[in-house]
Amino acid sequence: MGLLQDMERKQLVDLLRKQGISDEKVLNAMGRVSREFFVIEELRRYAYDNVALPIEGNQTISQPFTVAFMTQLLNVNPGDKVLEIGTGSGYQTAVLCELGAKVHSVERISSLYQKAGKTLASLGYDAKLKLGDGTLGWKEHQPYDGIIVTAGAPQVPDALIRQLSPGGRLIIPVGTSASQEVHLVTRDPSQNFEDEPEVSVKKYNYFRFVPLIGEEGWKDGD
Ligand code: SAH
Repeated sequence: MGLLQDMERKQLVDLLRKQGISDEKVLNAMGRVSREFFVIEELRRYAYDNVALPIEGNQTISQPFTVAFMTQLLNVNPGDKVLEIGTGSGYQTAVLCELGAKVHSVERISSLYQKAGKTLASLGYDAKLKLGDGTLGWKEHQPYDGIIVTAGAPQVPDALIRQLSPGGRLIIPVGTSASQEVHLVTRDPSQNFEDEPEVSVKKYNYFRFVPLIGEEGWKDGD
């Protein structure tokens, strides 16, 4: 937007670096996305604070540190096909686009799906968006090199593991509705896509996300 935002964005990136984000590709990508366009207008002055902020539909745009942490774990290379579950504001989608990924993103709330589509298009980001239940993935475009879920799940949805390419990575917060650990699920690279998936799992820290609601997530009203 303006000089003030440019300065605040640089300060945020410096803060993320101090907080332990070391992947320069991720830091640079976040340094290029204008987060002010992804937050609601009344909260624009807080766009570069390292906090989650409310968006429409009783949801949140994730805290920048969380976006950086999860994106770093995803380890995106240019040209990778990535699936995001929980488009929300579209901010994480834009960061993935900046990393050169072919981004597919699913959102269950229609107003967020519509608004994120407009925001991303107005900023020139080219992502494929879908309205629906992301706990089932997006089978049409499988397999994915990376899948990132930006809402907290009760368990890892089987459908998402099945849409990973061999060697692919799934990043997903799993836990109770109050707190979740971020799981990095990596599919065995020596397999063929058609094989029964073998995975290894690493778990990181505690975070708090809005719930993943759907067939393989929490039930609406849980
Ligand atoms: N990546 C977003 C985070 C938004 S919060 C951002 O940067 O703004 C998580 C989002 O996940 C919410 O918008 C919520 O509606 C969505 N969500 C929850 N369950 C879902 C599901 N089963 N399928 C798709 N989206 C879901």
